[in-house]
Amino acid sequence: MMYIDPHIHMSSRTTDDYERMRDAGIVAVIEPAFWFGQPRTNIGSFQDYLSSLVGWERFRASQFGIKHYCTIGLNSKEANNEALAEQVMELLPLYACKEGVVAIGEIGYDDMTPAEDKYFRQQLELARMLDMLVLIHTPHRNKKEGTNYSMDVCIEHGLDPTRVIVDHNNEETVQSVLDRGFWAAFTIYPHTKMGNARMVEIVREYGCERIIVDSSADWGVSDPLAVPKTAALMRERGIPESHIGAVCYENALKAYGQSGQFNESDWVNPLPIDQRQLFQGNSVLRGQKPVVDRELALIE
Ligand SMILES: [Zn+2]
Repeated sequence: MMYIDPHIHMSSRTTDDYERMRDAGIVAVIEPAFWFGQPRTNIGSFQDYLSSLVGWERFRASQFGIKHYCTIGLNSKEANNEALAEQVMELLPLYACKEGVVAIGEIGYDDMTPAEDKYFRQQLELARMLDMLVLIHTPHRNKKEGTNYSMDVCIEHGLDPTRVIVDHNNEETVQSVLDRGFWAAFTIYPHTKMGNARMVEIVREYGCERIIVDSSADWGVSDPLAVPKTAALMRERGIPESHIGAVCYENALKAYGQSGQFNESDWVNPLPIDQRQLFQGNSVLRGQKPVVDRELALIE
């Protein structure tokens, strides 16, 4: 079975994670631009980060047999540094049109401040101008209110709900997101928030249409195998295989496939892994024998 993890911050993860993900069946990932855990202090940090999302990280994933895509945006937390946010907004169009960029995101609200509102709206306008998809990060506090308001603002700016993926949903928000025609993504957090047992019940109750499962794994307590693990639990608890395939693979492909940048042929007929390759003179190896042609088990 093939899986897609359409929301994972691989820059914060290790090569072991890439190997385990590939072994578990993950063939493609989408890495949304987000924050570091501490605020960036200058535009150069943003520039290098965005460059790494379309450059080094994409290369690194390829060295472990996983196709890497990303979304480009100014996250809600850092939208609150307005002086810096202004400069980031100038940078975004330069990256949004690069190869492998599937959406503007993850954007939205954290604390629902006026600055967050301002840059969320500006980025929705950018998405509309570039005819791009949007990935929305809904706030973890005031979830229901923040999610509804995020959708209101999308509609106000003329976005088509079928081109907007609303993430970090839960039982409180799923109905209204689906009713309004948006994609409803769920981030599976270990131990807390949206766990995988709760996800099984959501699919049982709401079916599989426009529902997407992801890990949102990053530098915090999170699990890069959340998608295949949730699929396994669904299987164990009697969710039909067609529903599992939809929420753990096909819906992400349908949603992000609208970008024209995210095609099944990219990973169904992949180039062979060749760890002898270099990116700007660097490889992922530290003196190990390079893996060539997907013999990942050779790494010692
Ligand atoms: Zn994220």
